[in-house]
Amino acid sequence: MKNISERDKKHLWHPLTQHKLHPDTIAITRAKGAVLYDEDGKEYIDGIASWYTCMYGHCNDYIVRKAHARMQRLDQVVFSGFTHDAAVELSEALMGILPGNQQKLFFSDNGSTASDVAIKMALQYHFNRGKKRNILVAFEEGFHGDTFGAMSVSGLSVYNGPFEEFFLTVERIPVPKGDNNGEVKNRLLEIVGKGNVAGFIYEPLVQGAAAMKMFDAEGLNALIGICKDNDVITIADEVMTGFGKTGRNFASEYMANKPDIISMSKALTAGMLPMAITSCTQKVYDAFYSDDISKGLFHGHTYSANPVACSVALAGIELLRSEEMQQHIERVTASHREFDEKIRNHPKVASTRQLGVIYAMDLNVQMERYGNLRDKLFGFFMDNGVFLRPLGSTVYILAPYVISDAQLKTVYDTIEKALNEVV
Ligand SMILES: *Cc1c(COP(=O)(O)O)cnc(C)c1O
Repeated sequence: MKNISERDKKHLWHPLTQHKLHPDTIAITRAKGAVLYDEDGKEYIDGIASWYTCMYGHCNDYIVRKAHARMQRLDQVVFSGFTHDAAVELSEALMGILPGNQQKLFFSDNGSTASDVAIKMALQYHFNRGKKRNILVAFEEGFHGDTFGAMSVSGLSVYNGPFEEFFLTVERIPVPKGDNNGEVKNRLLEIVGKGNVAGFIYEPLVQGAAAMKMFDAEGLNALIGICKDNDVITIADEVMTGFGKTGRNFASEYMANKPDIISMSKALTAGMLPMAITSCTQKVYDAFYSDDISKGLFHGHTYSANPVACSVALAGIELLRSEEMQQHIERVTASHREFDEKIRNHPKVASTRQLGVIYAMDLNVQMERYGNLRDKLFGFFMDNGVFLRPLGSTVYILAPYVISDAQLKTVYDTIEKALNEVV
């Protein structure tokens, strides 16, 4: 009796969905640890941590307890003119894991708004100092969200047709892959040489929405260096990479040059509530600090720094820093490496890559099979009780850190079975 998923069809419009082609949804009624349960009681291992949010496991008891305690004490208060201990404690905890140059935190609601705030900070930084700089630099195939600013700097533009003429002005460069580092550097030097570049936004080392494409840390470090030399504000979009996924708290730790601005969301609130933070250096903040009211950052969301969301984020950071969670991260990282040894020479596998708990494989398929293969694979995984969302011809795993060895084995075995039976 598919009661919920049938009733869904009457009024609900789902994200990133062409409803005529994909009319069906699966109703999830509860979740625990690494497992989702649907309305028929069927279990699915959440192989992508529900878009890389619930890294400490669904309905984590510690997080639930902390959220509940806050709810009973303080639900919501305006964050202009007021503050609260949840936000202050969170700021202190975040400073303990962010790169050392980060000083100030600005709250918003999701990864897209975190990008938009970052972009506004970069543009107004120059404006406030009387400089006309109106160009942004971004990577080809980058993804920074779906609001207008974030969409403008995103390079994945297949579905952006109706909006493109309203976009910000963006210059795109390829990601540095090692062999093309010199070329990319020269391209960036050429662009910033014109003196009108305000900021450079990038996903550090892993482009999530572009199917977990990974690139060269040394190359990226050089690009950040060029920006620093030319007073171009650097923005690391750590919405996907943040909070331990790459094997470090933030992917920015892999580069010696640190960004001026970092955007965070997704695992920030451990999959419990929506919230985002854009952090920045003292230098960025100081460009807004003035006797002139118009030099302030006049951006604000009603639910900024919601106390319950702040408590959840604080609990998440405590979990991330615990010995137990660090061991889970090491265990999952080692487990992926072992699976990779076994699977990378499979005839249906073109290439594989891994950074921390992020694992991806490109399938060796003919172009004409691309289209429906993705849907077939998705269906096969779900039938076998594993939730994975292939992107094009890429299958990736980004499971909660707490996924058990047995659950990981089920994920690997299901992928291997799919390679043999579906691809
Ligand atoms: C998901 C994502 C975003 C957008 O976040 P939303 O919360 O979906 O708006 C931005 N940047 C990156 C790198 C992301 O992975």
